[in-house]
Amino acid sequence: MTVDRRTLLAAGAGLALAPHAASAQQGPQVHRIPVGELEAIVVHDGSALRPDATQGFVMNATPAQVSAAMQAAGMQGPSLDNPFNVTVVKTPRGLIMLDVGRGIPASRMRANMQAAGLDPAQVIMIAHTHFHGDHIGGLADANGQALFPNVPVLVPEREWAFWNDAGEESRGPEARRPAFANVRAKFAPYQGRVQQFRPGAEIAPGIMAIASEGHSPGHVSFLLGSGNAQLLVIGDAVNNPAFFMTNPEWIPVFDMDPPKAIETRRQLLDRAVADRLAVIGYHFPMPATGRVERAGNGYRLVPANA
Ligand SMILES: [Zn+2]
Repeated sequence: MTVDRRTLLAAGAGLALAPHAASAQQGPQVHRIPVGELEAIVVHDGSALRPDATQGFVMNATPAQVSAAMQAAGMQGPSLDNPFNVTVVKTPRGLIMLDVGRGIPASRMRANMQAAGLDPAQVIMIAHTHFHGDHIGGLADANGQALFPNVPVLVPEREWAFWNDAGEESRGPEARRPAFANVRAKFAPYQGRVQQFRPGAEIAPGIMAIASEGHSPGHVSFLLGSGNAQLLVIGDAVNNPAFFMTNPEWIPVFDMDPPKAIETRRQLLDRAVADRLAVIGYHFPMPATGRVERAGNGYRLVPANA
């Protein structure tokens, strides 16, 4: 069925079909994990091709070190197809989205939700890990219209404060200005529906926010718990496991406060090991989940049932 769909798309798009657009449609698009009365559903939002991950992706490793890590993980370097995976939580009351995907033309979010029988009209709440564009883009369309009318949007208090602080915007690097503007644009149609929370808050029954700052100033992760089952939606506190579990001190170019991000990464991964937590990562390759084991000076992701 996937092949049929790809063939159709390829026929329609002709030569305009980019290589990474094609690869984004290979493999699983949705992965379901029962968590007691809840269900965590990983929905693939496509991927973006980084032609050479040995350059400019890891800030404090040499191209040779990065290349070696990729080889050890069985990757055909140097290119990296960097995935985006949103967690949708099915609750007895409706769907809760933990981030909403990229919201760009290449986004697979709506199509994959539909294919999985997840109706956007059933979404009762959105909660954000942080405000980088690949996580909030799907809030509004290119005309600034809300894509989730009437849905409350829950945001970490510190993240909200940072991105709405004109002082932070003017003091920060020039290159970061578009991200501030994007936050304003994406949240504009949600005025009156944004609710701030602090780490430690239970944002909905069985969904607890956990502080995991460093990747961004107010980044949070979400711990799902129901009955004896638990699952950690880690967000961007850990990017691609082949790089940043194996080497938790490596700094992805997107981490805004590297020392804090490293401390957070170790803390969360130690907790995942100790509590045998299943973990979902926004930028893990599909199915984007597993348990965490110690390996060498770092960690590795293993299939959840191992
Ligand atoms: Zn991200």
